[in-house]
Amino acid sequence: PIRPREELDAVDSVCPYCGVGCALTYYVDRSRGAIAFAEGRDQPGSKSRLCVKGRYGWDYAASPQRLTVPLIRKESSYPKGPLSADVRGDADNDRGRAGAGGNRSGGGRGAKLSKNGKDGRRKPGGLVDYDEVLPHFREATWEEALDLVARRLREIHAEKGPGAIAGFGSAKCSNEEAYLFQKLIRAGFGTNNVDHCTRLCHASSVAALFEGVGSGAVSTTYGDVANADVVIITGSNPTANHPVASSFFKQARRRGTKIIYVDPRASTVAEHADYYCQVKPGTDVAFYNAVMHEVIRLGLIDREFIKARVSGFEELVRTVNDYPPERAAQITGVDADLIREVARVWGEAKAGVIYWGMGISQHTTGTDNARCLIAMCSITGNVGKPGSGLHPLRGQNNVQGASDAGLIPMFYPDYQGVDREGTRRRFEAAWGTELDPNRGLTVTEIIGSVLKPDGVRGMYMLGENPFLSDPNINKVRKALGALDFLVVQDIFLTETAEFADVILPASSYLEKEGSYTNTDRRVQLGRKVMDPPGQARVDWEIIQDIAQRIGLDWSYSSPSEVFDEMVALMPSYANLRHDNLGLTGKLYPNEDPEHSDGTAVLFDERFNTDDGLAHLAPAHWLPAKELPDAEYPLVLNTGRLLEHWHTGSMTRRSYALDTISPIAEVYMHPKDAADRGLSHGQMARVRSRRGAITLHVRVSHREQRGNCFIPFHFREAAANLLTIDEIDPYGKIPEFKFCAIQVEALSVE
Ligand code: SF4
Repeated sequence: PIRPREELDAVDSVCPYCGVGCALTYYVDRSRGAIAFAEGRDQPGSKSRLCVKGRYGWDYAASPQRLTVPLIRKESSYPKGPLSADVRGDADNDRGRAGAGGNRSGGGRGAKLSKNGKDGRRKPGGLVDYDEVLPHFREATWEEALDLVARRLREIHAEKGPGAIAGFGSAKCSNEEAYLFQKLIRAGFGTNNVDHCTRLCHASSVAALFEGVGSGAVSTTYGDVANADVVIITGSNPTANHPVASSFFKQARRRGTKIIYVDPRASTVAEHADYYCQVKPGTDVAFYNAVMHEVIRLGLIDREFIKARVSGFEELVRTVNDYPPERAAQITGVDADLIREVARVWGEAKAGVIYWGMGISQHTTGTDNARCLIAMCSITGNVGKPGSGLHPLRGQNNVQGASDAGLIPMFYPDYQGVDREGTRRRFEAAWGTELDPNRGLTVTEIIGSVLKPDGVRGMYMLGENPFLSDPNINKVRKALGALDFLVVQDIFLTETAEFADVILPASSYLEKEGSYTNTDRRVQLGRKVMDPPGQARVDWEIIQDIAQRIGLDWSYSSPSEVFDEMVALMPSYANLRHDNLGLTGKLYPNEDPEHSDGTAVLFDERFNTDDGLAHLAPAHWLPAKELPDAEYPLVLNTGRLLEHWHTGSMTRRSYALDTISPIAEVYMHPKDAADRGLSHGQMARVRSRRGAITLHVRVSHREQRGNCFIPFHFREAAANLLTIDEIDPYGKIPEFKFCAIQVEALSVE
């Protein structure tokens, strides 16, 4: 029976999905030990709104597939690998067949359908086949499992040195957990080989922002769209990926803010835009250089701002001189007159913000793309005042906070460089141990390192699933299988956990306290709704147990104690405490959290760089690394759907979300589909030089000719079997948004 609201427990918390970080209240029926429903709460950044994920996507935590007891791999169960491997990787070359257990359900050209069946779907919510995988593990006590983890990681450390250890943390974990995890790897193992999925998301944006304005965070909030004359939304499908922020954009437009939308895919934002520029994939630098060329030619720059606050303008002028609109039109496919019009509108605006997503960052030119956006704002004086600024829309709920907390190999907490001696000394004093003076390896570099003889041998994986999330997963599969020791701490048996030596059952978001920082720099408290199931434990306690076993003198008693230590080392978070975050959180920086919401607009007087200036870094357009050719004539773009989240471990176990969006599809332009004899709903085989998958066709006018889109949530049609592992040289982010593919009708046997 559904109980009346008055009989339910109300727990105020925050949505655990995207970087918008909507405030919500869970209503809990204690008699059933279950959430009855969730409702949006008023908060400046969400105003009681929720999207479908926040409103309905919480039942995953009660899934019977939760891990509830520590597991240790049986000695007989080697080699490691995707034991229930119906992840299809039938590549056309040897690399595609790498790794244990790879292609059991068939391979090569003309592949049969996998055992998922003709509808391309496994059992409801099914991801890893537990019945196949669990027999390779035995249950263990926490003592035994933690002792084994500590012993094996210490042995590898002693035999091969600090560089043989690496840790992947998670943007799903709290600030406190991220802080403790990076501290464990740095202070406990003496290496900076610690990173997380920011490397797959906005690492290039952070590299460009840090270089350009001295800070990796946004300069203004998404709510500031209400104060803008014009905004550019680029490389982003906020309706799907930041739904509540998207509602702010659409609302602002109704009140007069002009929207310029620049994206290869005509998402629904295009229908709300005043100007839609459907650029060809991977041509952003040419497009924005041409816009700046016109802004400068028309004299619409802010000379006073440039003189007082910007360096590198002359070099920028020389670079963009090479991009008259006619030339850019040939590269980008956008009409030269439309480029001129966009330049005029942007240049004439009194205040403008640029919001961008992973269509900008996930390229081998991702840092250059973001540099162009920084220059676009800087030369028009669109930073440091209401309704203006730079806003990379952060993906995961806590990717901003995890990065802030130091879960990246080149920075301690608050982006303090590990290679700066004074900084290192300060952290050594605070943590009571010597630290590695060298930058560590990134996520993408760690995977490559495992395949080298003197590379990483032991890994601690906290809540990450690189088997599905990283590019070219046949390579990832090979790397995970080659590790000497892997410990995975997670709430479900993920594809990555299939490679583990030890699996530690962790807590879901709903089962613990902690702070989370959203895309706006808003630090909010997530509150405990229920207890973890079985023997599962909260993550910070597990990290502490491992730390103690490797000799670190840790005795934290609560997340708020961890937060206080972290904040003492992070000037940006100064003055924040758990007990002054309140019900709606606080923006950082914040001089008086008791009385102020915090600082929405940064850089009103100076940038965060050493000299206080914005540093322009002009860039020339470079093509993507793997261009279409006769054999692979189409371009693949990967991304997310509204109803699903990353590798699907949560949303595919949510009844409502998986019911609305149960299958993987390749989105194609009608003519591209027709050319191949494909129609809507038919099964197709998509292949690249690295692998192949089978999935349904979705004929979509939102795709431009020659381009396809595949979401990466679905194990049974793992898009990252296709993607290329080339990376941006600065941000080290992979080119998820561009590789060459072919799509063919599938002959069903
Ligand atoms: Fe959750 Fe993001 Fe949806 Fe808000 S917009 S409810 S934070 S997924």
